[in-house]
Amino acid sequence: MPSKRPAPEPPEPLSPLVDAHTHLDACGATDAESVAAMVDRAAAVGVGRVVTIADDLDAARFAVRAAHWDQRVYAAVALHPTRANALDDAAKRELERLAADPRVVAVGETGLDYYWPGKLDGCAGIEDQIEGFRWHIELAKSLGKPLMIHNREADHDLLAVLLDEGAPDTVIFHCFSSDANMAQACVAEGYVLSFSGTVSFKNAHELREAAKLVPDEQILVETDAPFLTPHPFRGAPNEPYCLPYTVRALAELRDQDPAELAKITTANAMRVYGMYF
Ligand SMILES: [Zn+2]
Ligand SMILES: [Zn+2]
Repeated sequence: MPSKRPAPEPPEPLSPLVDAHTHLDACGATDAESVAAMVDRAAAVGVGRVVTIADDLDAARFAVRAAHWDQRVYAAVALHPTRANALDDAAKRELERLAADPRVVAVGETGLDYYWPGKLDGCAGIEDQIEGFRWHIELAKSLGKPLMIHNREADHDLLAVLLDEGAPDTVIFHCFSSDANMAQACVAEGYVLSFSGTVSFKNAHELREAAKLVPDEQILVETDAPFLTPHPFRGAPNEPYCLPYTVRALAELRDQDPAELAKITTANAMRVYGMYF
């Protein structure tokens, strides 16, 4: 969450880039003006498009509004796995309505989070999470939109539910945080892996190995702002304009030219989200 560390300096521009997963509302945007200001800061360093993600109903309503206020913003809507216990009939009807909006380019973030149950008050239990995940998979399939996965310590069950339910054509693992084995399993299924600032953390050895083996056609980049600020600003508030730091760290890891990786990930984002420029 927002901390006392000062905001990172703007990076050297790197263009073109798409922030494949961010939370503009949690970064502090509240209206058309503050959304535009945040995207202006991102665009100034080459991040020309952002996908803002919902984790609850309020955030879903906001994400869709933001995507209509500003054509550089796209939305994804869902109830986060830790909130799957709030997925009653009224919530389902509203999510169905919101997800059908043409500015919504994915259903998410959904998936499984086995870290928080038992630690966080009111957190959905595993049964509710699996049921909610299945519902969101069906929603993505019925709309023909990508599924945006949140996975925390649930590698095995995630793959099992996707296989059992039948995965949508496009599945994106946001903030991929697993090891090389899981990356290989996802790549083999044709899933897309999105990397956040955590790949820049030097102690994330397994994740950094995983990031090396993802083919160019299956990789995206994201901030997941305001969380997960890249090295060397760990703990400072994150925003979409910080994305070039992560892309440069990822490019170094993959032995790629950062400008080339920017082009590759942007082409992937346009393809999987069906964005137009
Ligand atoms: Zn997440
Ligand atoms: Zn997120």
